[in-house]
Amino acid sequence: MAGPSPIAFVLPVGERGGAESVFFEILRRLDRGRFAPVAIFLRDGPFVREVEEVGIPLHVQPITRLSDPFNYGRTIRALRQRFAQWGAQLVVSSHGYGHLYGGVAAWWARIPAIWWQHGIASSRHLLDHMAVCVPARVVVASSHSAAEAHRRAFGFARTPLRVIHPGVDVDWFRSPDPQRLARLREELRLERFRYLVSAIGRLEPGKGQDLFLRAARLVSERRPDVGFLIVGEGMSGTRSRYASALRAMVVALDLGGRVVFAGFRREIPEVLAASDLLVHAATRPESFGLVLCEAMAAGRPVIATDIGGAREVVVPGETGWLVPPGDPVALARAVLSLLGDVERRRAMGQAAERRARTYFEARRMVAQFERVLDELLLGS
Ligand code: UDP
Repeated sequence: MAGPSPIAFVLPVGERGGAESVFFEILRRLDRGRFAPVAIFLRDGPFVREVEEVGIPLHVQPITRLSDPFNYGRTIRALRQRFAQWGAQLVVSSHGYGHLYGGVAAWWARIPAIWWQHGIASSRHLLDHMAVCVPARVVVASSHSAAEAHRRAFGFARTPLRVIHPGVDVDWFRSPDPQRLARLREELRLERFRYLVSAIGRLEPGKGQDLFLRAARLVSERRPDVGFLIVGEGMSGTRSRYASALRAMVVALDLGGRVVFAGFRREIPEVLAASDLLVHAATRPESFGLVLCEAMAAGRPVIATDIGGAREVVVPGETGWLVPPGDPVALARAVLSLLGDVERRRAMGQAAERRARTYFEARRMVAQFERVLDELLLGS
């Protein structure tokens, strides 16, 4: 009997973001009786170590830039060789960027490719235009909103488009480690706040941490006992211009002492356990927004902006609120209403957890993805 089918995953980023959290669950949970996952990273970083630690065979093939033809050609050749060496039967690439490498090498090696979109496609982006030209047997979108954007940008192309909602390890987010939680509270001196409102994600304008701060200003005028926690860093751990602007904003808004910048954290279950609610103030549509599900899994209500994939995650009035994007007043009002009503907050938190368990559990996502793999392997 044939052994498990080797499936090669091509991941362009070595740091954890939403796509990486999704692939982490897939890599470690795929049914090993049927699938043998292997990973190629196009950049090194701490996430590579995490994948290594869960025993996934991997290779780092560092790239420079897509516009560097020498490096591009060398990378494609190297990927093709790796696929052959591993006997890969399918290649799964993350993001359009990953598909421009993984998909092209797969095409050259005559291996069927899957492209997991992970973003909101746009006909204005050259990279998306290039990526849709690379053959894929299936394109996976993380939400109906992302699938719709893909169709709007590129029409109903030949390639089938599937929606798989990302999922999280609900039990992990439900069970913070008491010692880690105590350390976190002590390190960030969180005890000084009666309530803690958190925002988790890369520090970049699209994530709307500046709106979070503007809303924080309005909230703190009414409730001086609230702390605001910003978790995450700029891309590649750099102190980006935006990150510096946020720190300057804290001073300008006279929020010093109320706002805590925690930097990148792995202990997200503990961050959420220390928080009363999560705010996700994205100003651009996101394909999904995994932190929303993570917070819900941890039993925390979520206030998100009414755009993109967040609409498929949050049920307004039941598991949290959706507010218009770019509106700090509406955001502050939603925060104040939840902080002021402990019963409502608790009920919403419970409903949020139930929803995460029912619709956004990692096992469900992996089962759906395995069905796509099976279809392609049996059909190829
Ligand atoms: N994340 C983390 N530590 C941080 C900030 C973010 O582990 O300090 C993780 C977070 O838990 C989530 C992912 O990064 O799993 C962010 O996913 P999301 O879909 O919200 O945003 P994306 O990165 O896809 O834009």
